[in-house]
Amino acid sequence: MDLLAEIKNLAEVEAAEVTSLRREFHRHPELSHHEERTARVVAEYLAGLGLEVRTGIAGYGVVGRLRASRAGKSVAYRADMDALPVTEKVESPWRSQTTGVMHACGHDFHMSIALGAARLLTKLKDRLAGEYRFIFQPAEEGPPKGDASGALGMLKAGVLENPSVAAVFGLHVAPSLDVGHVRYCPDVVMAGSDHLVLTVQGKAAHGATPYRGVDAVLVSAHALTQIKALLTQEVDTRNPVVLSFGRISGGNRFNILAERVELEGSLRYLKESVREQVLAILRRHLAGLAKASGAKIGLATKSIYPILKNDPRLTGQAVEILGRVLGAKRVKTHLPAMGSEDFAYFAQKVPAFYFFLGVRTPGTRGQALHSPDFNPDEAALPYGLKAAAALLAVTAGSE
Ligand SMILES: [Zn+2]
Ligand SMILES: [Zn+2]
Repeated sequence: MDLLAEIKNLAEVEAAEVTSLRREFHRHPELSHHEERTARVVAEYLAGLGLEVRTGIAGYGVVGRLRASRAGKSVAYRADMDALPVTEKVESPWRSQTTGVMHACGHDFHMSIALGAARLLTKLKDRLAGEYRFIFQPAEEGPPKGDASGALGMLKAGVLENPSVAAVFGLHVAPSLDVGHVRYCPDVVMAGSDHLVLTVQGKAAHGATPYRGVDAVLVSAHALTQIKALLTQEVDTRNPVVLSFGRISGGNRFNILAERVELEGSLRYLKESVREQVLAILRRHLAGLAKASGAKIGLATKSIYPILKNDPRLTGQAVEILGRVLGAKRVKTHLPAMGSEDFAYFAQKVPAFYFFLGVRTPGTRGQALHSPDFNPDEAALPYGLKAAAALLAVTAGSE
């Protein structure tokens, strides 16, 4: 039997195992940089398969290595491990047992698919070439809480080196796509994002005499509406950009003009040049508003995650492999998402391919990621397993 046919068969055999792993992770979610139990389960499972295991990387990161009998390329697969501060509403026997924490972003799927692929490829070890690295990364959801990204820590620890990997793969579950389908982007996959902090410093005065002060609330309101209008007027509308302010605070009392207001927002873009352009526009207009109003306006920016780009050559090969293992009809292109993802750091280092796995039950509307109702369909697991195992085996040179 050819290698891909063998992978397809084994993925069906392994479906029950991968499902039980997923339920185990789902029952015991852990927040970013607290994935202690999760890391232990992952490390023990990989060691049980006979892989060489390294633990405690950048916190709770784990890497398992599988060396095939024949020489070939080194390839890597990355799964993220953390859950979210969300209280699960879905009733199931494998419901979260930790109040207020839930695998609401599907990282339980990501890990169980990675472990399933490690097990499947171990069974095929004699037929494979190359070296397979399974990277389990903590703290993908780091921001907006302000934690450091888990991916950066793993890269600093050299998980893609010694020897340097030829390709790294990863996937994210997609609740807007039916089970059995995958989607990919040929170039940009996900947006780069920045955290913006806008501060407006006015001058307090009695609410009865606003002319004696500088009203930071009023200036903030002008700033917000101007900013929204500027983006549509000054940025080429063919370049997607999103700027959302999710937090605003300021003032002390209803009848005192606010002295200071702080706004926090998220800027997202698919091109670095657009980021530069938007920040320049903001600075220019805010300086004008400051002059006109008499307020002091500050803008601080911090990059959260860079733009995630697939490698064009690897993408071509990966799409061909996915077509062979899943059927070409199930593999289609997708528009880039305005969300962001720290897999982008891996993709900056080595050729990467990141894709989306459908987890919506056909005929339903699906639920949003990060919501308490998020309930991905487990029927997607064997598709993810086939995709991951085939991408790794073929890219390493096993055929
Ligand atoms: Zn998430
Ligand atoms: Zn996620």
